[in-house]
Amino acid sequence: MPDDSIPSSSRRAVLAGVAAGIVTASATGRAQAADTAAAPAQSPLVDPENAYPRPPFPEQSQPWPGLAGKMTPRPDHGETSYHGSGRLAGRKALITGGDSGIGRAAAIAYAREGADVAIAYLPQEEPDAREVIALIRAEGRKAVALPGDLRERKYCTELPGRAHAELGGLDILVSNAGFQRHQASILDITDEQFDTTFHTNIYALFYLSRAAIPLMPRGGSIIATASVNAFSPSEILLDYSATKGAIVAFVKSLAKQMVHRGIRVNAVAPGPFWTALQISGGQTEENIHNFGGETPMGRAGQPVELAPVYVLLASSAASYITGQVYAASGGTGVG
Ligand code: NAD
Ligand code: MG
Repeated sequence: MPDDSIPSSSRRAVLAGVAAGIVTASATGRAQAADTAAAPAQSPLVDPENAYPRPPFPEQSQPWPGLAGKMTPRPDHGETSYHGSGRLAGRKALITGGDSGIGRAAAIAYAREGADVAIAYLPQEEPDAREVIALIRAEGRKAVALPGDLRERKYCTELPGRAHAELGGLDILVSNAGFQRHQASILDITDEQFDTTFHTNIYALFYLSRAAIPLMPRGGSIIATASVNAFSPSEILLDYSATKGAIVAFVKSLAKQMVHRGIRVNAVAPGPFWTALQISGGQTEENIHNFGGETPMGRAGQPVELAPVYVLLASSAASYITGQVYAASGGTGVG
């Protein structure tokens, strides 16, 4: 389409200049506008209802914590489907649970948007983590692997400092790792399970945030992964839902504290997403079979479908967004 802001005689002159390779600085912008107008980029429309696999899913279970690489079908974390546009150029990010699932989708997207990324994960997840490290490096970005157990206070407390030292800064903390174990009754929840759920999901967020904040510049961003279970708790996820409710309150309070430090704090509340957490003790076999089928969209989310939310909340474009909870749950209203 012709660019009506440029008179045709001028456009001819600009295009002639481009052809001759002698455009002046002031004419360059117009030349680009004319080029763009000549060949508009196409963003393909996606049918959200049918974009990804629908249940039934094949029967499967893995010992905790599970590997994305052994799931059928393999989750889409954006390996080939996420395209960046420089929205996080030069940023330094630490993502817990960055080996698989939602954290992996965030890690791939951050690297494609120009960020250097440190991922934290359990040592058992090394095969998944290796793939993520390779994907980040394929973008020409720095990738740092920091395996360890978030139930250990020392590891949590030291993690932001290690990421800061290895990346040369820390602008973004994504506290995303989580533990979920279904139990039909409170009478079946052991002290050990209760401790694991709370240490992984909420203590770690506290330790990581407290250690990261002094290292973060104004403009920094903290993002925690909550859940729809914070608002509509599943009856078989009592301890898990309690931690997710705690994350929402923690984020809303911390956001207010951090306003005058220039650090934004938000949460993401996913509905059912196809990840290793679910098939390694997070859900009953029956629920896995029909995973996501209860949503209005009738399917599970894929991790890549959350990547744009993590990118937005980390980016400077979200400068007025803090203390918020962003949900993505296939049509199930959250709140
Ligand atoms: P996932 O299994 O791929 O990721 C969870 C990650 O947590 C693991 O990869 C592991 O690295 C990390 N982790 C767990 N225990 C740890 C420990 N003790 N020490 C260190 N790391 C540990 O599954 P996911 O679904 O991508 O989970 C990411 C987050 O999303 C979790 O907080 C989860 O509660 C949340 N979430 C998931 C869903 C869903 O349907 N998948 C829905 C709502 C919220
Ligand atoms: Mg994992």
